[in-house]
Amino acid sequence: MSYSVYLPAQLQLPLTGVAPSSRPLPLAHGQRIYVNRDLKLAQIHWIGFDMDYTLAIYRQHEMDRLSVESILRKLMARGYPPWLRDIEYPLDFPIRGVLIDKKLGNILKMNRFKVVRRGYHGLTELSTEELQHHYYTRKLRPHSDRYHWIDTLYGLSEACAYACIVDAYEKRQAKVDYTQLFTAIRECIDEAHRDGSILDAVAADLDRYVERDPALAVTLHKLRSAGKRLFVLTNSHKEYTESMLSYLLDGALPDYPSYQHYFDAIIVAARKPAFFQAEEPLLMYRGDDLVPAQGPLDRSAIYRGGNIAQLQEALGVSGNHVLYVGDHIYGDILRSKKDSTWRTAMIIQELHREVEAHGRCRDMLESWDELYERRAELEDQLRQNQSRFKALEKRHGADIKDRQSHTKKVIQSIRKQLRAVNREATALRRRIDDRFHAYWGSLLKQESELSLFGYQVDRYACVYTARVSNLLAYSPNQYFRSPRGLMHHEL
Ligand SMILES: [Mg+2]
Repeated sequence: MSYSVYLPAQLQLPLTGVAPSSRPLPLAHGQRIYVNRDLKLAQIHWIGFDMDYTLAIYRQHEMDRLSVESILRKLMARGYPPWLRDIEYPLDFPIRGVLIDKKLGNILKMNRFKVVRRGYHGLTELSTEELQHHYYTRKLRPHSDRYHWIDTLYGLSEACAYACIVDAYEKRQAKVDYTQLFTAIRECIDEAHRDGSILDAVAADLDRYVERDPALAVTLHKLRSAGKRLFVLTNSHKEYTESMLSYLLDGALPDYPSYQHYFDAIIVAARKPAFFQAEEPLLMYRGDDLVPAQGPLDRSAIYRGGNIAQLQEALGVSGNHVLYVGDHIYGDILRSKKDSTWRTAMIIQELHREVEAHGRCRDMLESWDELYERRAELEDQLRQNQSRFKALEKRHGADIKDRQSHTKKVIQSIRKQLRAVNREATALRRRIDDRFHAYWGSLLKQESELSLFGYQVDRYACVYTARVSNLLAYSPNQYFRSPRGLMHHEL
């Protein structure tokens, strides 16, 4: 993964009442846009935005608390015991990209090769031996019914509730069906989204659940001033979308009386990822009624559903001139990348914490690299001395016994050093991981490898950044260049 360090001169904009951005170069890491694949913004004519967790930045702990409370209420209505309400739910336990093993009640983090490298049963970390026993002898199939992939920030509350409830049952030495419990949690959270338990609470108290980014309106304005056309493509429903966009943008800039003035098209209930594959027709709201959409889109209207082919035709643009900005690795990024030629920008709000942690353990990461090299050297020396010892066994002579004994001592000494290096590396790795996340380490990495989540970001997101308004520091015609391109044999 890589990043753009230097920025071109800022575009001078006719902003009413807004001072031009004059941020020092280079930008702080959390404000940068990181590039996996070259992207020329000059060739992008339309920029589409997902809404939830993209334009709208949710306060994660408030959302998780609300979701866990909804899950508990609904579990108890299904006959689960009332003491579930009394146990602690550490909201910082889960991260995105973990896998729920419904059969064994475990939560797992995998590397890019889908090898499980960390795991918890309840809130107790699984040992290396336990991981090896359960997951190393057969190929793990994350897409089978046994597993559930936590790929959105919405899903964190499910992982948290699951781990804590499994933990509480086992501490009470009570039996629990792991599969049934997770299925019930999933059903409860789906029901809570459907019946308004969550969305109504959020809509009723947006200040509590949503962070209004003061730079968002200026960012959208800057893109529009450079000739980009903007659209919203969200799975949220009309009323919720309207109240959220209104909260985020209405009154933010004097030249834009309402949120609708920022966008050339707003499509709600888009049913992503099916939107990128299905043939659902695009409909237009006329009052509360829906009529089939025809011809170019009306800026003052709100649309529902549709599919990518119809949208591109209505916008009059081919896919390679569209940049889609979203937070969902599957629904927004992976599917659009696999099924269309849309370019993709992924919003990863955890990136702030990730880059900050990376900065704070630079020294430790250097030490880790040194230990890695030291271990490789010792392993080489061990192999050479073992071969020497074997060769000596086949020879006869007065001094052979002495040379054998000397070589044996050298081997023992190397083994001792290797054990020490391994101990040091394990302790250091744990200290590094703890700086990223107390339970799981880095979101995007797993030791020296990419985590499975990091691998998907690397593979499917053309660029990624922590929030939409990070675009403000870049030119709307920025050429985001990926410095990557070397294979290991070229390094
Ligand atoms: Mg979203």
